[in-house]
Amino acid sequence: MVRKITQSMDVPVRNECDVLVAGAGPAGIGAAITAARNGAKVTLVEYGGKPGGMWTLGLLSPFFDNKKEGLNQEIREKLMERKAWGGLWNAAFDPSEMALYLNWLLLDAGVDLLLYTMACEPYMEGNSVKGVFVQNKSGRQVILAKTVIDCTGDGDIAARAGCPFELGRPQDGCCQPMTMMFKIGGLREDYPADEILKWYKILEERVRDREQFFKDVPFNFPALVKLPGKGQALIQWTHIRNKCGCNGDELSAAAQNGFLQVENAMRYFNEIKDVLGDVYLLELPAVIGVRETRRIRGEYYITDDDLKSGKKHSDGICLVQMGVDIHEPSGKGQTNLKNPGFDIPFRSLVPLQAENLLTAGRCISGSYTAHAAYRVTGDCLKTGEAAGAKAVEALQKNISVRKLAKIQYGKEN
Ligand SMILES: Cc1cc2nc3c(=O)[nH]c(=O)nc-3n(C[C@H](O)[C@H](O)[C@H](O)COP(=O)(O)OP(=O)(O)OC[C@H]3O[C@@H](n4cnc5c(N)ncnc54)[C@H](O)[C@@H]3O)c2cc1C
Repeated sequence: MVRKITQSMDVPVRNECDVLVAGAGPAGIGAAITAARNGAKVTLVEYGGKPGGMWTLGLLSPFFDNKKEGLNQEIREKLMERKAWGGLWNAAFDPSEMALYLNWLLLDAGVDLLLYTMACEPYMEGNSVKGVFVQNKSGRQVILAKTVIDCTGDGDIAARAGCPFELGRPQDGCCQPMTMMFKIGGLREDYPADEILKWYKILEERVRDREQFFKDVPFNFPALVKLPGKGQALIQWTHIRNKCGCNGDELSAAAQNGFLQVENAMRYFNEIKDVLGDVYLLELPAVIGVRETRRIRGEYYITDDDLKSGKKHSDGICLVQMGVDIHEPSGKGQTNLKNPGFDIPFRSLVPLQAENLLTAGRCISGSYTAHAAYRVTGDCLKTGEAAGAKAVEALQKNISVRKLAKIQYGKEN
């Protein structure tokens, strides 16, 4: 039984806006910039210290499924211009340049960005979301909004608004493992840009105590993601299993475990300097990488069959072309499945049960397996753009986002 204390307090209103976006990852960036460019007054709340989510706070690359028009193209081309694009599969980028460019984009669009701020819970009137309570160094405040877009990755706002959701795989609710990414410097310049596993095979051959090796960094399909910067690469090797990314204690414990694994990984890298070069630890991420948490049930649920058959929709807002990539919760490597290309319909961004609310990014409505394809950043960005555009369209037409979704699907007029 959890001990509870009741607190009641007056909460100051920080501001009122048309669209409040919670979370400034790829989805939140897409939502906030698009809504602002379409004329809305937008506030973007982010609990990290820079925009970009996993792109920047999480040190992740490459930018998958980015061959799309709109912000995907804009960001890709601008990073190329800034000489911050390239490396692995010609789709990696410099995370700091990404943060700087996103900051510029947000300023240019006139988005009111509030960093270092947690979007705690929705402010509700009945089942309508009317704003979000936030917490930062100023204390507790509320931001009132006509529409809220939940881009927290974890569906924090939608879940607390009472929307139903799924978590993890169907048989036991286990989520894909987390990964603490890290950046190395000193990589040999002649190390091939597209070679992600060679070092690992050599390491496996050289390590004498194999049992200890697999315990120290327990994942057998790691990746070296060469960055555009000289001698720099991101390493996706650590694996932290059986922890939930929307449980504060478990998240913190996972990060501590991740740091230990990074140290172990660096120790092994030092044993193969002849292969990699004189590598050293250059940067740790600001957050551990969480692959999946809540999938908020919406007006449409993307099924395994949709994925297998490449289903298209009249209200499709994003074509997902990335294959399924499941890091197995049990630790048995990865499961990769082909994807013929399926649509995300707008309806899957409209949560059940709460009004004035949309989701975008990895927390939208779909199955465990479909999520493992559309969770990549190019698709999350695209769903964000659609959510931002539709939120403004609904406001301009003075109808709810749910009604707009139904009209556009053709179920109502
Ligand atoms: C280890 C790992 C490797 C991956 N590899 C790739 C890859 O190579 N290529 C690829 O394209 N994709 C990859 N992905 C998938 C991709 O990174 C994510 O699925 C994607 O970033 C999700 O985008 P998002 O905007 O929904 O969420 P996120 O990128 O997680 O962004 C959510 C943002 O919301 C903020 N936030 C969360 N909760 C709150 C709150 N309550 N209040 C305020 N702010 C909040 C977070 O700080 C964050 O900035 C990887 C993921 C992981 C974890």
